[in-house]
Parts: sequence; structure tokens; C-alpha cells
Amino acid sequence: MPQAIITLNAGSSSLKFALFSADGDDFNQIIAGKIEGIGTAPHLVAKDTGGKVLTEHRWRNGFNLTHEDFLRQLLDWIDDHLGGAELIGAGHRVVHGGAHFCQPARVTPSLMGALKALIPLAPLHQPHNLAAIEAVAAVRPHLAQVACFDTAFHHDQPAVATRLAIPRALSAEGVKRYGFHGISYEFIARRLKEINPVLAAGKVIVAHLGNGASLCAMQGGRSIDTTMGFTALDGLVMGTRCGSIDPGVLLYLLQHKGMTPEELSQLLYDQSGLVGVSGVSSDMRALLESPDPRAREAVELFTYRIAREAGALVSSLGGLDGLVFTAGIGENAVDIRRLVCERLAWLGISLEAEANARHAAIINAPDSRVVVSVISTDEERMIARHTIETLRTLV
Ligand code: ADP
Repeated sequence: MPQAIITLNAGSSSLKFALFSADGDDFNQIIAGKIEGIGTAPHLVAKDTGGKVLTEHRWRNGFNLTHEDFLRQLLDWIDDHLGGAELIGAGHRVVHGGAHFCQPARVTPSLMGALKALIPLAPLHQPHNLAAIEAVAAVRPHLAQVACFDTAFHHDQPAVATRLAIPRALSAEGVKRYGFHGISYEFIARRLKEINPVLAAGKVIVAHLGNGASLCAMQGGRSIDTTMGFTALDGLVMGTRCGSIDPGVLLYLLQHKGMTPEELSQLLYDQSGLVGVSGVSSDMRALLESPDPRAREAVELFTYRIAREAGALVSSLGGLDGLVFTAGIGENAVDIRRLVCERLAWLGISLEAEANARHAAIINAPDSRVVVSVISTDEERMIARHTIETLRTLV
């Protein structure tokens, strides 16, 4: 009997899901969907791979429905769309795997305990990721679950790239740079190996530019450095997060502005980045369309910091053969790719405007010394693959 896997990526107000069928080595996505507005006005849309809407639902007065309520209804709906396949597992995106979890892992009570202990390191994501696991366990206690970690891809970075310049005792407790977006980076590394094995073997920077944003320096398909660090706050300017910031600013806000740790956390995670600088929106599309000069300044800072961090990663790599753009902004925002590449012209990067405008797979000009590519990421597929491989290994 064909098997099926559901992937779940739970955020604070959204739950992305996808259904994959797996028949031997044949592995296909059947359905993708999202519940948005959890906690306010929940709204479900599920589509088949051709983009046809299979179901759409708004819950009236659904503001107090929990992940468990949604997952019960979603899994019942999925049962009717398995097409004869057996649902054998749920694979979850889990942002933080800490120092120990460098591979996808079957969910057990002891794993959950270890992952809960990491909540302070990823307060924006980890609690919601774990809530979805607990909700599935409550409504389908016999369904196998696998956690896939965003930190895992960076696990083998050289020690010097992960060390923070703080007293050793703190480093020994795990206060170090972990890196995130690893599920996306692993997907891109594999995809690049399929479509351009020579480039994949070289020195490549992948720019994952979505609401969260980071860069990863890869050599031979492995992460050697990345812009996010101890938490997903570090590095680039993001939709609502500040990125790298002088720690002295935080001391100033705590000691002289009387901010509480909670207020500071909210400022850094939710009120900074593009929305903080622009005062307009955290959404890149809205900023690019806005006539407000503050929106232009936010876009300028976003691209300036990408180029600055990319320069640092070129130094980590000792050169650069390729630059790959991915995620919502990286895959769609022609002007952002252009502005970043203009700032990196000193590396011998030049774009072909027409190829960039149509989001071609290769967008560099023929005389560019660096290959510039646009590759769609697919974290769901990566999670599904890991889930099925983990479950088959355990059988
Ligand atoms: P998440 O990190 O939540 O998965 P995504 O990868 O979906 O985010 O990226 C969301 C971002 O992509 C938003 O800032 C959105 O405005 C931006 N985006 C999506 N499409 C476009 C587009 N056509 N032009 C510019 N920005 C876009």
C-alpha cells in the first residue's frame, strides 16, 4: 500500500501543512495548505499541486480554537484525501535542536523534554513547533512523529565560526552560534547538486530572504558559516527582527530607558527590522510599492546589510563561485536581487536584467565572475523526505 506523510510547520498564528505520497522511491506532493489567523480569524486553504483549491474554510468566532482543534479537523480532512494511501507519519519543522540534535529525530517524551528546554533560545518559534507535536499526539496518539531541526545543517561548522567571544564557561553551557533556516539550506544544497554539480562543489552563498532572513556560506554543499547565531535575531535585517545589533544598545535600553526584558524582547523580535525602520510594513512587497521615503530607507538598509554580511562570508569562504537567492523575497523581488548584486559588483558579480526580471534559474550576465541563481526552496519536501527516511530506518 502506498504511504503518505504530512508535514507541519507551526508558527504563532499560522500552520502550514503539506501531504506527500511515498511509494517506494517515488515521492510526490499531493496537497499543500495553510491555516492563517490562528487566535483571531482562522482561515484554511488547501490546494492540489496544480493550484486548484480543494477546500477553503473560515471558522466563525474561531479566535479561541487551539492547534489541537485545528489538527483534529485537518487530519480528519486529510484522511478523506489519502487516495488509498496509509498516513504513516507527521514531520515537523522544529527551529532549535540545540547542541545535540544534528539529525531528524523520532519524537519521544524524552526528546520533547530536551526540546522544551530550548524554548528560551527560540521563543518566537519553538513553543509553537512543539505545540503542534503535542496536538498531533493528543488527537492521533499512534501516529509516528519526526522532528526536523533548522539548526542541524549548521552542526558541522568549524568551531571558530560557532564560538562567541565570551567567557569559556558560558560557551560550555551552549551559548554559541547555532544558525537557522537549515532545512531550507539543505534543500538548496541538494537541489544545486542536481542542477549544477560543479557549482555545488564550490564556494556558494545562499541568501534565504523571507520574513526571516539569513545567509549561509557553503563549501562543497556544507555550511561553514551563517549570519544567524545563538538565536534567529542575529545577522540580516528582517521583517520585524533587528538583525545584528551592538549589544551596548541593549544595555542602554535596559539600564537607561527602563525597559523590562519582555519589552526588550518584543522590541527586537516584533517591532524592529523593516517594520521598525519604515513604520509602514514588515512586508517587502508593500515597501517596494510604497511612496513613503522611510520605506525606501528600510529597503536600502535591508540590501546594504545583505551585501555587508555577504562580504564577511566571502572572507569565511576565501572566495566566491556562486550566489543563490531563495525564499519569498529572494525568489520574487527583482529589485532586491538587483540592488544586492549592484552592491556586490566589486566581487565581479553582474546581472542580466532580462533574466532577473523573469526570475530565470541563472540571472548573471555572461561576463559575471560569479554565477547568480534563483532557486525555489521547498522546506516541506525536505521535511517529508527526512520523515520518511527516519521512519523507514527505524522499522
Ligand atoms: P516566511 O519567512 O514567513 O516563510 P516567505 O519566504 O513567504 O516568508 O517570504 C515573505 C516575504 O516575501 C514578504 O516580505 C513578502 O512581501 C515577500 N514577497 C513575496 N512575493 C514578493 C514579490 N513578488 N515581490 C517582493 N516581495 C515579495
